[in-house]
Amino acid sequence: MQFIDLDAQQARIRPVLERRIADVLRHGRYIMGPEVRELEERLAAFCGARHCLGCASGSAALDLVLLAWGLGPGDAVLTTALSFIATAESIARTGATPVFVDIDRHFNLNAASLETALTALEKGDPSLHPLPRQAVEGRLRPRAIIAVDLFGRPADYAEILAVARRHGLKVLEDAAQGFGGRYGDRALCACGCDAAATSFFPAKPLGCYGDGGAVFTDDAALAALVDSLRYHGRIDADHKNENVRLGMNGRLDTLQAAILLAKLDIFAQELDERRDVAARWGRLLAHVPGLTLPAPPQAPGRSTWAQYSVLLPTGADRAALAAELAAGGIPTAVNYPNGLHMQKAFAGLGYAPGDFPVALDVTARVLSLPMHPYLDAATQERIAESLRAALARQGQGE
Ligand SMILES: *Cc1c(COP(=O)(O)O)cnc(C)c1O
Repeated sequence: MQFIDLDAQQARIRPVLERRIADVLRHGRYIMGPEVRELEERLAAFCGARHCLGCASGSAALDLVLLAWGLGPGDAVLTTALSFIATAESIARTGATPVFVDIDRHFNLNAASLETALTALEKGDPSLHPLPRQAVEGRLRPRAIIAVDLFGRPADYAEILAVARRHGLKVLEDAAQGFGGRYGDRALCACGCDAAATSFFPAKPLGCYGDGGAVFTDDAALAALVDSLRYHGRIDADHKNENVRLGMNGRLDTLQAAILLAKLDIFAQELDERRDVAARWGRLLAHVPGLTLPAPPQAPGRSTWAQYSVLLPTGADRAALAAELAAGGIPTAVNYPNGLHMQKAFAGLGYAPGDFPVALDVTARVLSLPMHPYLDAATQERIAESLRAALARQGQGE
């Protein structure tokens, strides 16, 4: 059994995939070839954003937006305490300081805490909200917010954008797990933020066969800047060797674009299938005592179900449970075992484990189950039964 079954997907699209790859081998334009532009147009249309720019990875997409916004030392960027490392890494790499905020019951940035964090930051007062030591030793200027659609579930954009507007901050949506989801009547990556970044890492809902990512925005000036920055700050395609700003090699390569075009043909269907699998998880796991299932997404939002993550009962031994499931051929994952504030890379910020109690609790209890469009009912039933039995053996949930 696979945690994510990419083979079943490949079998489904094999002829188109091979034709797309053969096209690239024939024309040989491996960098910024025609497939990149075609993909960008289709992705922009898919979510309803004006501009899409293919990038080398989801991390590069985050970097490019923050670089375009000119963030640097003395700036603060507020973000969630629970995400993949890249979210906060991108902030720190510009020289700006990440300021962490606890999560809500959807595992996403808590908008009420965000407002409190901004007040604490403005006053330099960590008694109001935990702050990095840099914000107490000297003043940091809040510049931006990064909200994450963790596990594919939309963050609370109405509230987050209202806070951002009150404080004059930009908002970047880290939709690495969220492309394909919805928030209200808008698609993620086009739900009102200044920019969004997604990832095509193979395990994401829309993944390529290597690294890839994209930036989405309605802001033409930002799109032009990211276009330049991803190509070493060149003026434009006609002036390749005239570099007017410091950029990077942040491009999506043509072969990955070709692979994504083949996958995009079935992506909407796959999202429906993911929703069916998630609904089945909900029905099956409702009978497992002691589990906390994902809260329904922000009404009327829609998750991509990048992960199906449950919370184990407080007394459960997660490592032993995962080992027992693994012995029975059932893979699981822990997303994520550490809050960002507890990563060694951020030790210099001086946070304590209990600064974000909700995130701390989730990191101790969260367990992600197999989740992909090709998961069949019989397999899900077997996993649910194994999980129930393993918990019962630990004396949980009777
Ligand atoms: C995967 C991921 C990233 C980074 O994407 P890469 O393509 O691996 O660089 C950033 N943020 C989140 C929330 C992610 O899940």
